[in-house]
Amino acid sequence: MQKVAEVIVDVPTMQTDLPYSYLIPQALEDKIKPGMRVIVPFGNGNRKIQGFVIEIKDNISPTETTLLKRIEAPMDLVPVLSPELLELADEMRRTTLAFKITCFQTMLPNVMKASYDKKVVVREHCPQTIIDDVFDGLSELSWELAEQQGKLPVIMKLRQEELVDVVYIVNKKNRAKTARGFKARLSQSELVEVKASLKPNAKQQHLLVDVLLMLDGNAISNSEAKELYELSAPAIKTGETKGWVEIVEREVQRDPYANHSFKQTYAATLNAEQQAAYEAITQAVQERQAQTFLLQGITGSGKTEVYLQVIAEVLNEGKTGIVLVPEISLTPQTVRRFKERFGPEVAVLHSALSVGEKYDEWRKIERGEAKVVVGARSAIFAPLDNLGVIIIDEEHESSYKQEENPRYHARDLAIWRANYHQCPVVLGSATPSLETRARAQKNVYQSLYLTQRASQASSLPTTEIIDMTEAETFGKMQTFSRHLLEKVHTRLQRKEQVVLMLNRRGYSSFVMCRDCGYVVPCPNCDISLTLHMDSHSMKCHYCGHEEEIPNTCPDCQSQKIRYYGTGTQKVEEELQQLFPEARILRMDVDTTRRKGAHERLLEQFGNHEADILLGTQMIAKGLDFPNVTLVGVLNADTALNLPDFRASERTFQLLTQVSGRAGRGDKPGEVVIQTFNPEHYAIQLAQRQDYERFFRYEMKIRHEANYPPYYFTAQIIASHPEENVVAKKMYDILLGLKEQLSDQAIVLGPTPKAIMRVNNRYFYQIVIKYKVEPNLYAYLRTILENNQAEISKGLKLSVDTDPLNFV
Ligand code: ADP
Ligand code: ZN
Ligand code: ZN
Repeated sequence: MQKVAEVIVDVPTMQTDLPYSYLIPQALEDKIKPGMRVIVPFGNGNRKIQGFVIEIKDNISPTETTLLKRIEAPMDLVPVLSPELLELADEMRRTTLAFKITCFQTMLPNVMKASYDKKVVVREHCPQTIIDDVFDGLSELSWELAEQQGKLPVIMKLRQEELVDVVYIVNKKNRAKTARGFKARLSQSELVEVKASLKPNAKQQHLLVDVLLMLDGNAISNSEAKELYELSAPAIKTGETKGWVEIVEREVQRDPYANHSFKQTYAATLNAEQQAAYEAITQAVQERQAQTFLLQGITGSGKTEVYLQVIAEVLNEGKTGIVLVPEISLTPQTVRRFKERFGPEVAVLHSALSVGEKYDEWRKIERGEAKVVVGARSAIFAPLDNLGVIIIDEEHESSYKQEENPRYHARDLAIWRANYHQCPVVLGSATPSLETRARAQKNVYQSLYLTQRASQASSLPTTEIIDMTEAETFGKMQTFSRHLLEKVHTRLQRKEQVVLMLNRRGYSSFVMCRDCGYVVPCPNCDISLTLHMDSHSMKCHYCGHEEEIPNTCPDCQSQKIRYYGTGTQKVEEELQQLFPEARILRMDVDTTRRKGAHERLLEQFGNHEADILLGTQMIAKGLDFPNVTLVGVLNADTALNLPDFRASERTFQLLTQVSGRAGRGDKPGEVVIQTFNPEHYAIQLAQRQDYERFFRYEMKIRHEANYPPYYFTAQIIASHPEENVVAKKMYDILLGLKEQLSDQAIVLGPTPKAIMRVNNRYFYQIVIKYKVEPNLYAYLRTILENNQAEISKGLKLSVDTDPLNFV
């Protein structure tokens, strides 16, 4: 009876979103496993495509067997997705409505998605006979050749015995690095004899034999031998000609943090609140409880120290842990704290790593060499076994939600994985999302509080609000109140440091004619173009359209065409004019685009090579500089007026975060918030750092307006080059929905999106608010299915079952 593999093929369409059966060739019978990728023939033309094996079946009738196509070749030697991750993909498909294949691809590092070349490499302890038989005496073999020569079944067996490995070749510059090395060809006793026969003055040869004895059969790279033992290359060469040593190619792993030195740090003595949190969490680790904790602690209250000690205990128990942090706070400062405590047992995953570096980190995890993974959203898929804890820092951050398919939220997947492993989840924040906090209120999550700053000397800063409608302002742009400028001035005199934030959300600089009010629009989108001083041009942030800055008004030919709004560059120039002696660092998307730039800027600021750090939201998080005694927010409210029910929540969170950057050392901190809405509750309560009050107030508003956490939401977005097509389609969808939903559900729309036309496509949305609709997901899937034909003809349709963004 022949075995059959159920395969999800790499064709992301509705029709192919279910497994196809393929016969497993005899030679691969026991080697193909669920979670491996295979090449299969597909469709009428039998074109060769990739697929994921999800199941192996063996009881199939001979008649059926003859109808099946056959697996062409394996793509992996061992499964790349564990049974757990295969199951998690089911859950993702069910909750996000994404295709199964898209879920699988999302879980793997990029390098494994594309058609990169790969090769089979021999591992150190692979016996010579095998190297000779299978690899013609070489240390590696390209995958292509292995396949052509029919060696894959043998190689798969070798992989199971951990004698070989697969390496992806990313590109010339980034391929897995190999280093020349050597190891002894002689036994220990033979080496002793050689040493006895050496002339006393042959210093390097003595050294070589000593090193070989010390290695006891293991290999070492030439560079290491030079660095550690001052063994010269000619000595190794001599060893080779005399037959003492054998030259080997050793794969060296790229370590993105190789050039950093990390000094070991040790656990601080926890204060009472930290200790209580630590005990509650570690008890859940030990008792294998899948409990979710909300660790609500003010900025600087020592949440990270609690994470570190919980992880230490998890490692102590022989388990592993995942720590998610927002991309933006994956600053060297955060990474360092984990590296310093746990050394090479930490793998770090974030977008600043090259494809190759990410792959290496992933492999470190997969091989079990790294037991702790610190990373951004997608690190939730880290292939760790035996999880002891999952920590999500700044759990309210919207970057945990993926804004493309599959539209998953890392928090939900964390809770799923924790259930699978029976381990706790820790959600940490100074300003938890309303959803999370409401769940803690109902004891779905267990609350833990840290109410004091951890460091004895530091205290929460005092915060002032400046009403910009009345304040005396300075400079052409009217960006600075006199009050804030005076405070900056004193800091400069006292040699203390200042952080200034310009809120870019919902804000941009544009060009307007003073005579007729003409604003230069994007020809493709319903939005004005943004001024970019670095390229001296105007760009559209939605479609990338770029054009020259006009000298005269295109509409009335007036010369009085001026810049409005404030970009970070403009503010920097103005600030420099006001304080010619101040050293200013600017941190925004333009200055941090290059790899490592973010890190360098922070290091400079940390070394006090600058007095003022001026930046966008990216400076609000995770920075810990004790010499910063003043934080200024130049425009607190640009995001308040966005048509999104979470606008207040986001403003409150941002202001609280950025205020937390002040007064982290022993000098007291001050915060100045400039705003046009001084009476707004989000601003008022951020001034008082009063999360509890904010939570209660905002909950009331959400309750009255039937928004989360009282209601669930779902969002349908459609776009098309012709407005009437998309509008009509959305009305059709609306009619269908109304038939399906109960009276309790509320449907908003269809309405054009806030920016209706982007890149010459018209966008409409429908928002559904509901409490219990058991059939909703199934029906949303039906909507996607029923529109397949139109989708292939230019309609774009997306469904988000838990949207975070409404603008
Ligand atoms: P959070 O993550 O809540 O912002 P951190 O863990 O970064 O807080 O702690 C803020 C500062 O206090 C850090 O410099 C940290 O080293 C220090 N710290 C944390 N816990 C303690 C403790 N128990 N004793 C002394 N200092 C501590
Ligand atoms: Zn004009
Ligand atoms: Zn555009």
